[in-house]
Amino acid sequence: MKRAILLGCTGSIGTTAITAIRDKNLDIQVVALSAHTNAPKLFSLAESLSVEAVCLTGGNCPPSSHFKTYSHTEGLKQMLRTFEADIILNAIAGFDGLEATIACIECGRDVALANKESVVCGGSFLFDLAKQHGVNIIPVDSEHSALYELMKHRSKDDIESLIITASGGPFRDLPYDEFDTITVEQALRHPTWNMGRKITIDSATLANKALEVIEASYLFGFPSEKIEVVIHPQSIVHSMVRLKDGAVYAQLGTPDMTLPIVNALIDGSERLVKPLSFSHLQLTFDEPDFKRFPLLSEAFSILKRRGSTPIAFNAADEVAVHAFLNKQCSYAKMVSCVLKTMDNDWDLHVSNFAETVEIDRKARALARSFL
Ligand code: NDP
Ligand code: MG
Repeated sequence: MKRAILLGCTGSIGTTAITAIRDKNLDIQVVALSAHTNAPKLFSLAESLSVEAVCLTGGNCPPSSHFKTYSHTEGLKQMLRTFEADIILNAIAGFDGLEATIACIECGRDVALANKESVVCGGSFLFDLAKQHGVNIIPVDSEHSALYELMKHRSKDDIESLIITASGGPFRDLPYDEFDTITVEQALRHPTWNMGRKITIDSATLANKALEVIEASYLFGFPSEKIEVVIHPQSIVHSMVRLKDGAVYAQLGTPDMTLPIVNALIDGSERLVKPLSFSHLQLTFDEPDFKRFPLLSEAFSILKRRGSTPIAFNAADEVAVHAFLNKQCSYAKMVSCVLKTMDNDWDLHVSNFAETVEIDRKARALARSFL
């Protein structure tokens, strides 16, 4: 039985993980949980899973007679040091997930990493740190999970490029001159995936795909010229690898995060998701439209600039999406806020967490000035 800790357990990924662990009778014992502010849901999940500890990172955690309780980020670190685990799922949303990933690594625990911001913002030092501590980082993001599986038994030297698929989001076919009228409600209606609010908005602007291009580059060590993005509205092909000999290998499945989450937690499970049916299955592919989705093209220039640019992009996007979700700015302003922030000189070298936090703060302040 594998001992697991689930961070961000009250969110979309966290809830999917818990449902799978419970319903599929997986060989996983959940020993501890974290959430940010949703104490009632945290406690109800903790009781149903009989965990040993919980942490509320965004406030003071109420006491419990059933399990030990911790509060704030310092409490989270203490909980991670105290409770043994074979693997930690980091399903925290946003930049704050990076500190948790570092804490997991420093405790020597393998990380099933859904928090893509950790890789995007900490990519320049995170993997060296993991190596020093003998820690494996296993991607949970569906595209990267697919690439991880596709690359498992293949030499990197044989691979020409990585092909990341994108559904294209709800505005895939919307004419450019109608982008001004997009509402929060429309942007939250993702055609194929059911996810948290921030990532759903990012899927509408394709900022999510931009983050994923950067994530793939750091995770697998491929430069921007060797990463392709293909629009695939059905979200059945999760990603592909193009080999130097011309062959292309793909991973297919229904759009369900259960498989990538469980694959990152344990090896070899019984049937996890509905088998893919090929009757009436139509798969289509197209090129992305960089004009209508300029945030996607940012990823490729960011990877050429490197330094602190990915951190600034992520920070500006978090600020802009937050404002859009709170109806403080339009869709167009959200996008232009990120683009304007990126015009700044961000080509600074970053080699540790403190420097990353510094850049994040500066980029947030600049982004706010454009709203
Ligand atoms: P949600 O918003 O649904 O859930 C976020 C979780 O993180 C909640 O448990 C929340 O706690 C907690 N949290 C929020 N802010 C903080 C913070 N500042 N510090 C600590 N914990 C915090 O997000 P998702 O589950 O959609 O996404 C989680 C991560 O996984 C993101 O990085 C996302 O990009 C990535 N991902 C998600 C996919 C999906 O299908 N949803 C697919 C691929 C990647 P509380 O409920 O108490 O606020
Ligand atoms: Mg993804």
